[in-house]
Order: sequence, then structure tokens, then C-alpha cells
Amino acid sequence: MALIIQKYGGTSVANAERVTEVAKRVLKYKNEGNDVIVVVSAPAGTTDSLIKRAYELSDTPNKRELDMLLTSGEQISIASLAIAIEELGGKAISLNAFQVNFNTTDAHTKAQILNIDTDVIKENLSKGNVVVFAGFQGITKNNEITTLGRGGSDTTAVALGAALSADEVEIYTDVDGVYTADPRIVSNARKLESISYKEMLELAASGAKVLHPRSVEIAAKYGIKIHLRSSFDDSLGTIVESEGEKSMEKAKIIGVTSSKNEGKITLSGLPDKPGIAAKVFSTLAKSKINTDIILQSSSINKELNNISYTVKSDDLLEAVRISEELKKELGAEGVTFEERIAKVSVIGIGLKTHYETTAEIFDTLAENNINIDMISCSEINVSCIIKESDVEKAVRALHSKFLEN
Ligand code: ASP
Ligand code: MG
Repeated sequence: MALIIQKYGGTSVANAERVTEVAKRVLKYKNEGNDVIVVVSAPAGTTDSLIKRAYELSDTPNKRELDMLLTSGEQISIASLAIAIEELGGKAISLNAFQVNFNTTDAHTKAQILNIDTDVIKENLSKGNVVVFAGFQGITKNNEITTLGRGGSDTTAVALGAALSADEVEIYTDVDGVYTADPRIVSNARKLESISYKEMLELAASGAKVLHPRSVEIAAKYGIKIHLRSSFDDSLGTIVESEGEKSMEKAKIIGVTSSKNEGKITLSGLPDKPGIAAKVFSTLAKSKINTDIILQSSSINKELNNISYTVKSDDLLEAVRISEELKKELGAEGVTFEERIAKVSVIGIGLKTHYETTAEIFDTLAENNINIDMISCSEINVSCIIKESDVEKAVRALHSKFLEN
């Protein structure tokens, strides 16, 4: 007997028919003698429409109330699935974050998990129930309801896996695994049998939307295997674990990703002295704005610097507002921003030691007449900021160069 944690995404519980399919799958595992915990997301489209509703009422909805509203989506799914399991003759109980004491920080709409009380879950499992738990939500020490950020149900599932020492967490979605590129952009993208945590984190951080990055961080920390697979068939998906597919000495490139919803801000003519970058980025961090690529360039004779950074589109206007304030405070010359930029990334362990690969990436973009605006390189990721309209062309060219022999 094993403890199995399964998470089903929104498309897997989109309607009654799909919920019943999930109930059948869950019961198959349960009837084999396993303890099963199921984490579900809101039905497809529900969270989006709840957000829309809030923004129809206000341009700046109160974040506490936003969380109260958004968590209702997952509650539809847990109750529905529990009903469907019982209809098929199984025993199930739905539980929300409050009932389980799933503790988070009080950062509404992007709360971090603090600790999870496993007693209520264990007690219900021991009574023979399938436990159906609401993803995405949490509770603060003052009993306020929070959410973990968009896509957070994956993180709920893996965090439960860590708290209950599960060996593997299955994440069921509408794709059957992790591909070398988005199959909608590259028709001969290949499904990976396995991938390392590091590579998966890079893929997720640079645009692959298959897994919530924080779920991978937790999995890596606690050594939990994630099996990402489709709820629409029985095929094996991709295993995310400490080591992925291997190849001895070649720079192993495992994927090309892109992300469109990015914006770039430039603070120009900043004084060139210690503490300026610290001030800029600590101010942004205080407003919980995540920056991605950062570039500082110095103008040699004027003793001034320009700092450019990219953020998610959602954060762009807020970041511009903060940068305008920083401009005054630090005596910078100007703030400019661009909305329609995109990032294309090549991911693979060994990129750093295989320096010729980096040059080949830039060559490939040049051959395709794609201009590079910003570059960032790490041990396993080379990312370029380019024009949004060039992004599909860039992904196809790089995939063809590095992943299609
Ligand atoms: N329902 C939430 C969302 O759409 C959480 C999730 O799906 O993981 O972001
Ligand atoms: Mg989701």
C-alpha cells in the first residue's frame, strides 16, 4: 500500500463528465489498496472569470477580498469530485485549507506556505476516505484566507507530498508531459521521459507553463518525484527528479522556451556609485515585484549608468510608477519602458562549459535576422530578449538547430 497524491488541473475537472472520469481514475488507485489524496484546481476558466468579476467592480480590488473570491473556484471542484466519487460507490471527503490548517504567510494573492497540519488528513485517510483537498488556497495564523498565486495548485500538491513524505506526486493535466519546445509552435518537439529539477525550474521560469515553479522548488528540496501526465489517457508522462535524461559530455540542451508577457523598464542616467542598484531593487522587492533580466550599462565619460530590467506584464505599470519615484529620489535622467517584448531561452546543463554553444545561439538568431535586445546567461540557461513578433520564428530556429539533429 502506498500513499498517492494526485493533482488534477482545471481542464481535468471542467465539467461533470470530466469530474466523473477523474473519480474513476482515483477509485482505481484506491481500490488497489492505496491511500489517495487528490488536489484539484478550479474548473477551467473559473479563476479567470472570478478575477474578471472583481475587476469589473474595481480597478484595484482589495487583495483579501480577491482571495476570498478566488478560493471559491477550488471549492466547487473539491465538492464536485467528492460527490462523484461517492456516486461511484467510493468514500470521499472534501477539505479546504481552513479545515486542514494549511498555513501560509499573509501576502494575499501570493502567499508562501509555512507549514501544513497533517492530522486531519491522516485521520480521514485512516477512515478509508479519499481526501479531496482544495489547491491554491491557504490560511494565515489569523484565519485569513490566502491564495498561492496563479497556478498554485501544483505547489499545494507537492507541499502535501513533502509534509506526508510521499514518494511521488502525480500531476494530471491536459498535456502528456514536458516537451523540448511548445508543440503548438514546433510540430516535431519531443516529449522528455525525465528531466532534472534544475532543468525543469529553468524551463518553468522561462516560460514553459506545465508546472508551477514553486512546486518544483519544493520537490527538489524534499526529493519528491513529480510525474507530470495527462488525465485524458493512460500514457506515461515526464518524471521530474534529481537527474534527468543523460548524455555524457555534450552540452545537453533539453529545451527551447519563450515567454511573451514581459515588459522592460530602463532607468537612465543614474549616478555611478555604490548602493544605487541596491536601492532600486530593494524598493521593487518591497512592493513584491519580481524582476527577471537585469542589465546595467555604464557610460564611460559621464560617470552615469543605465539600468534596465524586465518584469511580467502584470507588474509593468506598478514597476514604472516605482521607477518614476526612484528617478526623482536618485536624480536619474529618465524612465522609459517597452510593453511588447518577449524572451526566448535555451535550457541545458553544461551550457556554461560549452562556450561555443552560446555563440551558436546568437548566430542562429542573427541568421534569422532577429535582433537581440538583452542577454542573460547562467550555467543552464541562455535567454535573449527580442521583439514579441519574432518569438515563434526564434523558437523554431533554435529548436531546429539544437534539438533536431
Ligand atoms: N485555479 C488557480 C488558477 O487558475 C490555481 C491553479 O489552477 O493551480 O490559477
Ligand atoms: Mg492550473
